[in-house]
Amino acid sequence: MATKTREKSTEEKHEFQAEVAKLLHLMVHSVYSERDVFLRELISNAADACDKLRYEAISQPEILAGDTDLQITITADKKAKTLTIADNGIGMNRDELIDNLGTIARSGTKAFMDAVAAGKEKSGEVNLIGQFGVGFYSAFMVADTVEVRSRRAGEKAGWLWTSDGSGSFSVTENEDDPSQGTAITLNIKKEAKEFLEPLKIEKIVRDYSDHVAIPIKLIEVEKGKPGEVRQINEASALWTRAKKDITKEQYREFFGHVSGLFGDPAITIHYRAEGRHEYQVLLFVPAEKPYDLYDPERRGRQKLYVRKVFISEDADILPPWLRFVRGVIDSEDMPLNISREMLQNNPIVGQIRKAVTKRVLTELKKFAKKDPIAYAGVWSSVGPVLKEGIYEDMERRDELFELARFTTTASTEATPVRTLADYVADMKDNQTAIYYITGEDADAISASPHLEGFRARGVEVLLLSDPIDSFWTANALGYEGKPFRSITQGIADLDSIDPEAEEGEKETKPKSKIDEEATSSLIAAMKTALGEKVSDVRESKRLTDSPVCLIAGDGGLDRNLEKLLSRQQTPGVQVSAPVLEINPSHGLVQVLAEQAKKGGDTALVDDAARLLLDQAFILDGEPVGEPMEFAKRMTNIMQRAFGS
Ligand code: ADP
Repeated sequence: MATKTREKSTEEKHEFQAEVAKLLHLMVHSVYSERDVFLRELISNAADACDKLRYEAISQPEILAGDTDLQITITADKKAKTLTIADNGIGMNRDELIDNLGTIARSGTKAFMDAVAAGKEKSGEVNLIGQFGVGFYSAFMVADTVEVRSRRAGEKAGWLWTSDGSGSFSVTENEDDPSQGTAITLNIKKEAKEFLEPLKIEKIVRDYSDHVAIPIKLIEVEKGKPGEVRQINEASALWTRAKKDITKEQYREFFGHVSGLFGDPAITIHYRAEGRHEYQVLLFVPAEKPYDLYDPERRGRQKLYVRKVFISEDADILPPWLRFVRGVIDSEDMPLNISREMLQNNPIVGQIRKAVTKRVLTELKKFAKKDPIAYAGVWSSVGPVLKEGIYEDMERRDELFELARFTTTASTEATPVRTLADYVADMKDNQTAIYYITGEDADAISASPHLEGFRARGVEVLLLSDPIDSFWTANALGYEGKPFRSITQGIADLDSIDPEAEEGEKETKPKSKIDEEATSSLIAAMKTALGEKVSDVRESKRLTDSPVCLIAGDGGLDRNLEKLLSRQQTPGVQVSAPVLEINPSHGLVQVLAEQAKKGGDTALVDDAARLLLDQAFILDGEPVGEPMEFAKRMTNIMQRAFGS
């Protein structure tokens, strides 16, 4: 919370929220060479403020107070060393000034601060600033002090916010002729005086802010007098321009504006839909993860405009599983006075959603075909979100299966990801299911003993390590008539699939002889030793090298899904006792089986059974139930091994 002390009649001093103070410290001491970004940030805020006012004026026209020409003016005064960025947009009242310019709201800034907190700034705070774009506070990269004069549209009092960026700011009533909107005056640092040069300002605006649909005007003050007013941007909404008139740089800059990401988008989708409904679409699929991708709200981030009037920035035009797609949809035929609340149920929005979703999926498919390597990169950034669609959207499941890419046991350096179509094409004779294993750690699952029998037979297994994987695999019926089957659940039906001959070997290796009777005795002894810790002990078909593994009981939930659900405390879900499978051809198992058959050292068999169970838990990434007991038994067995 900001603390305050009253000084004069209206002046109040406030401390910045701790994170802001830290951020400001970075800005003030920034050695970042591309300080230009501050202007882009302030212009972007000013343009948003104009959009907001235009939206509010739809229902309350009087709020415009006759000032219908929304614009942004940049006034450079070399003598006074001030640069003022002013807009006649929505403005801020006292509380909004304190809240908006004293705390951190935007997710990009939060991500930036998280990165700073994670200590990455040492490797270059510098790049981080460029990477994230940190809004208003970037003004302190070029200014010693910043003054914000603002009056909220529709309110009488104007306010002045000032700060030197050193931990506190003050707010006082601005009594001298406050105009509606916001004017931000930067007292430019000596070493930043280049930003008072009109040519420099013009270049920055052209480079970064040309897409802004509101006129940006430049005024140069000479000898205390304002000179002519010059408009320095095109001020037409980018999406309304013809594709051929838009450069790659302009698309990139607009992409940066709507996504908070730098660099080029992977896919640009720009078209005009005609027919029953008319609308313009300019959407981007980013090559990287947007910072807010995992916000719990899972909101769409497409901006909705109606005939170039901004309506909402998270109108959920696309389903939540396409929330990484950023950009603008501008409807020609929706009513202007549509409230944000009404959007949800608006039939036109519904139809646009359907058509644009279809188009985005088509473009993704086209891109995947054209540039599989770049597509694999996109998939690795946003794939987990697209998989939510496999879980949620039955209707589009098959299309999403086409887009999905998987790391599997057949992945190689040359082809690190595989499609389900690849999988099905390479299925073994008699293989009826698509096998998968889920877990939280990609490395751990690829080393899991469960895979042994599948590897030995050359049966491909999907290695799934995103949390959502446990969910969609549980409810997707299958792909091309082949069901999905977890390899950590139920009985592995591998008998009908022949083991692969090892290279250069014609015959398969003869199996070491298994004493069935001894195995049965061991199973019985282990069941007694382990009691309720397991729901069953049985012979394994899936193990070739390891002695044991754990699987979920037949008909129960996949073990990983069960773990996830019980961690979320889903009612009715408890982690149930697993089945312990043993590998009768493993040397250790055979020795133990002999002991069990002879009825020899039962204490040894007992200890070994418990240790093997603990080992199986460890391999599944789970803690050992009783570490003290585990250590004691381990010591016991080692002592016997060394004969002490
Ligand atoms: P962001 O713009 O990403 O939210 P900023 O730090 O740049 O982050 O700005 C914080 C908030 O301050 C904005 O969300 C907005 O509410 C308010 N704000 C900033 N500049 C203006 C302006 N020129 N007019 C009205 N409000 C503004």
